[in-house]
Amino acid sequence: MSMIEISDLNKYFGKLHVLKGIDLKVETGEVVVVIGPSGSGKSTLLRCLNRLEEPSSGDIVFEGLSILDDENNDINKLRQKMGMVFQQFNLFNHMDVMENITLAPIKLKNLKQAEAVSVARDLLDKVGLLEKEKAYPAQLSGGQQQRIAIARALAMSPDVMLFDEPTSALDPEMVGDVLKVMKDLAAEGMTMIIVTHEMSFARDVADRVLIMDEGIIIEEGNPQKIFNQPEHPRAKDFLSRVL
Ligand code: ADP
Ligand code: MG
Repeated sequence: MSMIEISDLNKYFGKLHVLKGIDLKVETGEVVVVIGPSGSGKSTLLRCLNRLEEPSSGDIVFEGLSILDDENNDINKLRQKMGMVFQQFNLFNHMDVMENITLAPIKLKNLKQAEAVSVARDLLDKVGLLEKEKAYPAQLSGGQQQRIAIARALAMSPDVMLFDEPTSALDPEMVGDVLKVMKDLAAEGMTMIIVTHEMSFARDVADRVLIMDEGIIIEEGNPQKIFNQPEHPRAKDFLSRVL
């Protein structure tokens, strides 16, 4: 069984049909990159996965359980297993870096303070910010804040990481450091679904690239196929504008 199995997923906002029968399976350890024009439903797809949005119909099975079935699925448990990183870093501005990273593990996973701090230091090391544990978000650059946001998500030991345009709000010189952290995670075998406009990252790191357009996955395949031989006319058109 795949880690994630999405079938015939539909999402409406009022009359606006934003996801139109999405079928998608994601395997454990797979890195899936989602690209496509603005407004095509990429964020909505990620947000349905951890129920920041309620799907209108269809099913999402995660690790063998339907996430839409409240009987057997606690939404908080679900979100603990799915780390999410947004375009805006969403750190807690009144807490320092260490508090940002240890809050959820202590509260939700009942980790002891010392254990949580030790996990956090390992993660800060991983994202290259070991010296920043006492800093407040406002004292960090955007790229550093985003790397802290990634460390914070990883502190819950999620089974999958969802990234929604994690570098889109960053100054260009910060983008590389964040992509490097994501590339390292991919190399360690983390399952990841990444919405991004960074095409060279997609080419390098993705096992599979999906192109979304108007609520449909119009093209999918390995990066070579997607970037060198797209078939769908709108996929060709999109790629010709971004490559
Ligand atoms: P993308 O991430 O690909 O840019 P989104 O998933 O954010 O696309 O949005 C898809 C469509 O859904 C857009 O037309 C957007 O305006 C609309 N939309 C997204 N969120 C909402 C919402 N909460 N209420 C109404 N419309 C929304
Ligand atoms: Mg979006």
